[in-house]
Formats: sequence, C-alpha cells, structure tokens
Amino acid sequence: YFVTFEGGEGSGKSTQIARLAAHLRASGRKVLITREPGGSKGAEAVRHIILSGLAEDLGADWEAVLFAAARADHVAELIQPALAAGDVVLCDRFHDSTRVYQFGGRAAQNGLMERLERAALAGIYPDLTIILDVPTAIGGERARRRRGDTSADRFEKDDQAIQESRRQAFLTIATAEPDRCVVVDGNRPVEDVAAEIRAIVDDRLDA
Ligand code: C5P
Repeated sequence: YFVTFEGGEGSGKSTQIARLAAHLRASGRKVLITREPGGSKGAEAVRHIILSGLAEDLGADWEAVLFAAARADHVAELIQPALAAGDVVLCDRFHDSTRVYQFGGRAAQNGLMERLERAALAGIYPDLTIILDVPTAIGGERARRRRGDTSADRFEKDDQAIQESRRQAFLTIATAEPDRCVVVDGNRPVEDVAAEIRAIVDDRLDA
C-alpha cells in the first residue's frame, strides 16, 4: 500500500509520517519511509544537484526532467520492490509536488508534465495521498523556526503569495482526484492530526 504526503513548507509532513509509521509498525506492518527528491542512491545524487541550485540555469522544464529522473530511480529501486514485498510505503512528497512546484499547478502545453509523470511512475501511482493543509503564514513561520536564520536551500525563500498559490494547487489536485486524495487540516495539535491520519489509513488498509 502506497501513501504519499504532500503540502507546503512547515505543513508537518515528516512529523506525521513518523507518527503514522510508529502506529503501523505497532500493529505489525512492515513500513518503508522515504522522501523526494531522493530516496534511492541515484535519486539522492540528483537531489543534491537540484537543491544546491547547480541546475538552476537549465530552466523549469529541464529541472522537471531531473525530478522525473530521480523519481524513476526511486520508484524502480525502492518503492516498487517494497510494495511487491507487501510493505506499506510512506513517501514524503511525490508526483503531486512536481505538478505544483515544477509546473505551478498547471500542465504545460506540450504535454511534458503528463509524459514525465507516466514515464517516472511506471504505473506505480499512490493508493492514498494525504495533503496536509496549513495557512501559509503559519507554515512559513514553522519552517523559519526550524531552520533558524540560515536559509536552507534555494526553494525555501519564496514569498507568501507563491506559497499560497502552491497551497491552492494542492487543494485543486485533491478536488480533481477525491478517491486518491484526502485533505487534512494540519493547523492543529500534532496528536490530533496524527489521530485523524491513523483513522484514514486504518480504514483504507482494512477495506
Ligand atoms: O519536503 P520539503 O519541504 O523539505 O522539500 C524540500 C524542498 O524541495 C522544498 O523546499 C520544496 O520547495 C522543494 N521541492 C520542489 N519540487 C519537488 C519537491 C520538492 O521544488 N517536486
């Protein structure tokens, strides 16, 4: 069973993934936690290129190609084998992040987004996507507190208007794919959010 977590910065994805994994393991399931960009050896190498800004001059489309290359490796090397072994896979960001971050929530005219997505996923679509929704001002504040004064990478300096448009793009995806996506209000105490996510996932796994 393949679960992806999406949302803006400071939405609490990694905290909630850890909570959910602990719950699932306690109930006897094998769980793989992974993240994007990265996850597998080849994909982590591409992550370094992307996050360091080394590829910034390539432009958005070619950056999207790099993300797709990383994702293809991640799926083939890590995600698909774990799913085949019957594990639950929890992934911090996946193809929805590319739709939102690389393509601004809109498919390009040339069909690049769909083609890259189809090629990279190779049929491995998430069974469930948890979209953690927090007001952008609050997510930004959480992220700033986490990283202190030093700006972590080139993505984490975007202004609030951009963050808000990304938030809306995630919500639009959720509306378009209601069977796969569940929006969870992340602007609550950690344990309340964790309890809701546990209930959603237990429900689906038992179905
Ligand atoms: O998950 P986290 O917020 O740590 O993501 C790391 C960074 O990579 C983020 O700042 C995000 O903006 C960026 N990212 C991206 N496109 C993706 C995935 C992540 O720009 N497809």
